[in-house]
Amino acid sequence: MLVRSDILTAADGASVAVENETAGGDILLICEHASSTLPERAGDLGLEAEALKSHIAWDPGALVVARLMASELDGTLVYQRFSRLIYDCNRPPDSPAAMPETSEIYRIPGNEDLSTAERYARTAALYVPFHDRIAEIVAERVATGRPPVLVTVHTFTPVYFGKPRAVEIGILHDEDSRLADGMLSAVGADPPHRVERNQPYGPADGVTHSLKLHALPNGLMNVMIEVRNDLVRDDAGQQRVAAYLCRLLREGLTA
Ligand SMILES: [Zn+2]
Repeated sequence: MLVRSDILTAADGASVAVENETAGGDILLICEHASSTLPERAGDLGLEAEALKSHIAWDPGALVVARLMASELDGTLVYQRFSRLIYDCNRPPDSPAAMPETSEIYRIPGNEDLSTAERYARTAALYVPFHDRIAEIVAERVATGRPPVLVTVHTFTPVYFGKPRAVEIGILHDEDSRLADGMLSAVGADPPHRVERNQPYGPADGVTHSLKLHALPNGLMNVMIEVRNDLVRDDAGQQRVAAYLCRLLREGLTA
């Protein structure tokens, strides 16, 4: 049987990272697409350097924004240390999008015709430890009477298949829209950003996997946040967006 070491070397380190684990606040931030790093043994998956640094590999700015939010809200942050090109942790193992053969305009040669053994090894190395860790944290907190509020943080590309996207911040939800409804109410009449529900995509596109895995079965308040990545390209933008999202979250939770 293949083991995790077939994908990750000792130099790669663990696939999952947890920050501020003993946080006093209730927010549990999750960042599935935090990193563009590929495990050493994955090579370049047959992609050019430009593609390996692009939004197909990760969500630029998402980890920084999630960290700022964790700091302001005294929340815990769990993130995946490797690129979604090797395994997209916001997709279940049986989804073709978990180890995509194409992403937007790019072919990913290193993901074509993967054997069952290779798929299993990637799942065991990247997906299972990530979601196990989140499940452990959720279970511990539920057991001690402080169920977390699950918030996943993502960014999206301003231009997709050549088409510009006008939405700036997406507030996404699956069947449980309590927190999303509260946050959207908090947006108000004259918002600094164009904020929309379930945009630029929604649950029908399979993007709410982490919410469905951890929040819905436990009845946790939950939301998925998508930020257009041109808004969080520099420090000032990251600070501004993180502060705005923290305000929406706080108001959304008390709505
Ligand atoms: Zn994402």
